[in-house]
Amino acid sequence: MNRPRILIIYTGGTIGMIEDPATRTLKPFDFNHLIDNVPKVQMLGYDIDSISFNPPIDSSDMNPAHWVQIVRTIEKHYREYDGFVVLHGTDTMAYTASAISFMLINLAKPVIITGSQLPIGEVRTDGEENLITALQIAAARTSKGRPMVEEVAILFEDYLWRGNRATKTSANNFNAFRSKNYPDLAKIGLGIYFNESVLYRVPADELDRPLRAHYNLVTDVAILTLFPGLTEATLRHQLNAPGLRGVVLRSYGAGNGPTGHWFSETIRDAVERGIVVMNVTQCVNGGVEKRYAAGDVLASAGVISGHDITVEAAITKMMVLLGLGLEPHELRQKLEKSLRGEMTVG
Ligand code: ASP
Repeated sequence: MNRPRILIIYTGGTIGMIEDPATRTLKPFDFNHLIDNVPKVQMLGYDIDSISFNPPIDSSDMNPAHWVQIVRTIEKHYREYDGFVVLHGTDTMAYTASAISFMLINLAKPVIITGSQLPIGEVRTDGEENLITALQIAAARTSKGRPMVEEVAILFEDYLWRGNRATKTSANNFNAFRSKNYPDLAKIGLGIYFNESVLYRVPADELDRPLRAHYNLVTDVAILTLFPGLTEATLRHQLNAPGLRGVVLRSYGAGNGPTGHWFSETIRDAVERGIVVMNVTQCVNGGVEKRYAAGDVLASAGVISGHDITVEAAITKMMVLLGLGLEPHELRQKLEKSLRGEMTVG
């Protein structure tokens, strides 16, 4: 079999940072520094090329223009490589993973996103292991010779997660990510143990379709969180933000909100002005279900159920779908459907 060909896209993040002696804070550094710290990469026997953001960024500065840059790079080099590894800061990694999963159409090769909690130059770094494991996952094949992973995934420490199902759950643990509503795609131990029954499989008749991408993302969106004490004035103010087109509403429990008339009327008013509102739960597990009258209030005000989607996937899905210029009923239909395995419907 040929040597696996992998393209690394280095965007920045802690993995490649070094300490600024003047301020004693970490700043992104260039790719050569990063790869010089991992001589073991040579031992994999892969053909590896790299492309770097110039300059690399802390992922707190990530925005949709950067997602376009990542996706354009993948699209441009798609046929030349067996897989792609994106090195990225952990802070917004789940947003990027979600966004690019919706932007890429007909993806049938691995896009593995990773980073680290400690810079790669530090003695106890998790970066070296994460980088090497991500490369191995990007090169992995099934017994039939197909790529083992045919989707966007996050590799971090002991697990591989579906990208649009993952959330950063720890600011200081090496196992920094979790999927609250979907099993791990692989467990990393002495070997890489893939959970093949939950990996996305491209249908045989779609395998030869050319990769395409959506590049137009609409950022006139907001994430609103309910809390006891939220006033009508605050809610109205938020929903009247100039140009607002979509809202992810973080409701309580199984999708519930206050039963007062003011609440349903304020939401209905926004929906009637053409703002799409998607209901997602604030809970760590589970999703929106029709169980309580307090949840019905939102549904009857025209709010779309986000089922068990993550906030990161909900907001990026909205940005991508709003960018397609769909008719309102088509937009609702697509938001309610699972497009890339991001939610459990029905
Ligand atoms: N602030 C860093 C970033 O997201 C944190 C990290 O990489 O872990 O770029």
